[in-house]
Amino acid sequence: MNLRHPLILLILAALLGPAASARPAIAQASAAPPSAPGDPAAISTEALGWLQALLRIDTTNPPGNELLAAKYIAGVLNHEGIPCQIFPTTPGRGFLVARLNASAVPDPSHALLLMAHLDVVGVDRSHWTAGPFAATIRDGYLYGRGAIDDKGMLAAEMAALVSLKRSGARLTRDLIFLAEGDEEEGGAAGMQVAVQNYWDQIAAAYAINEGGRVILRDGKVVAVAIQASEKVPYNVQVIATGTSGHASIPLADNPVVHLAAAVAKLGSYQAPVQFNSVTRSYFEQLPQISDDETAKWLRALETPDRQDHAARFLSAQNPAWNSMLRDTVTPTILQAGIRANVIPSEARATLNIRLLPGNLLQPLLDTLAKLVDDPLVRLEPAPDIGQPAPSSPLDGLFYHYLEQASRKQFPGAITLPFMSTGGTDSALLRLRSVAAYGLLPFPLTVEDVARMHGNDERIPLDSFRQGVDFLSALTRGFVTAQ
Ligand SMILES: [Zn+2]
Repeated sequence: MNLRHPLILLILAALLGPAASARPAIAQASAAPPSAPGDPAAISTEALGWLQALLRIDTTNPPGNELLAAKYIAGVLNHEGIPCQIFPTTPGRGFLVARLNASAVPDPSHALLLMAHLDVVGVDRSHWTAGPFAATIRDGYLYGRGAIDDKGMLAAEMAALVSLKRSGARLTRDLIFLAEGDEEEGGAAGMQVAVQNYWDQIAAAYAINEGGRVILRDGKVVAVAIQASEKVPYNVQVIATGTSGHASIPLADNPVVHLAAAVAKLGSYQAPVQFNSVTRSYFEQLPQISDDETAKWLRALETPDRQDHAARFLSAQNPAWNSMLRDTVTPTILQAGIRANVIPSEARATLNIRLLPGNLLQPLLDTLAKLVDDPLVRLEPAPDIGQPAPSSPLDGLFYHYLEQASRKQFPGAITLPFMSTGGTDSALLRLRSVAAYGLLPFPLTVEDVARMHGNDERIPLDSFRQGVDFLSALTRGFVTAQ
């Protein structure tokens, strides 16, 4: 998603060794024998079975139907003696919470929350070569909608929970697992309900959610990007008004013309470059894994005389970097006219705006209104869709722990904090002072990450195993540390 780099071309065949051989599909968790405590290879095999079962449950949102998947997970956890509860939100929908407590009384002030979402985005079946809900294994990959967003994470978190429970290890922190719903459509039937109505069930000091990346390049993990922040989304209506009439008599206040001119200006607006602690650290560390030319311009980003050129060069190379450097304004919808021979009295456009955390919408709207400079055109913000959440700390206990655990798991890889340009449910947690981090633990190439929300979404089997191992080890280490 956010770390796409057009110069990085990867040969998929070279990425997976013989260890990633195909194994037969299994439908139920019970198809794989329970693994011995502390046996990472075996738990990842079981987890692969859970992931296949989850992929076969169609939770396309809308309508979601997350309860089907939640019940499947409850079955697995109940079998392991892990207490869990399903909280319905709307018909067919809801979320699941499971927990392992360190002592008789829950202690949110030290607890770790592992979370992932049950719902998936829709598919265009005509572009899939594998059944999107068949969980097919082919050439070392498991295919299915949700394989990397976000059912792979669900299965890996289940593995972390189950292996910990089986080990009988004494916990020094509570471990909470949240399988939530409606992430892909805003969370009104999922995370928002969980946070507003059931906060006591999921309250924690630290959280791991989607949003990060383990970056695989030429068969090697080069970086672990830990998401600590995200941009804040808003929608704004651009409304042009004029006189309606017969199209045979052109009018100077035709709103279609005024809107088109306004959208052309708005679409090419470039907000000033700004850094926050997360993006500063990200861009400072990126040269270590970049080619020489890119590294040169990355280092020039904060030099006053060369910043403009550096931002232009980097933005052209990678549109996601452009979005990480500034507030962005993207026209996405145009609406005008009812008949070919009628001048309409109104024309509308929608702007999707993504603000850097901490920035306010109104000053940007003032700038945009000046830019448009047309009394017939006005800007109206839609009711807030964004959660103006602060970044999670980069100097705290848990972030340092995640850095250490990443380096231990992937020797030679750098770790760097990361700001998503898109939104995740971590924003709701950060607003409640949870130090939430995005850490998708599976090593993935740029090419495979690009399949998220796209066609033939898949996860390399070897990467899945490594991710399960990584997440299980870091969870165990954190919740059992003395
Ligand atoms: Zn997701």
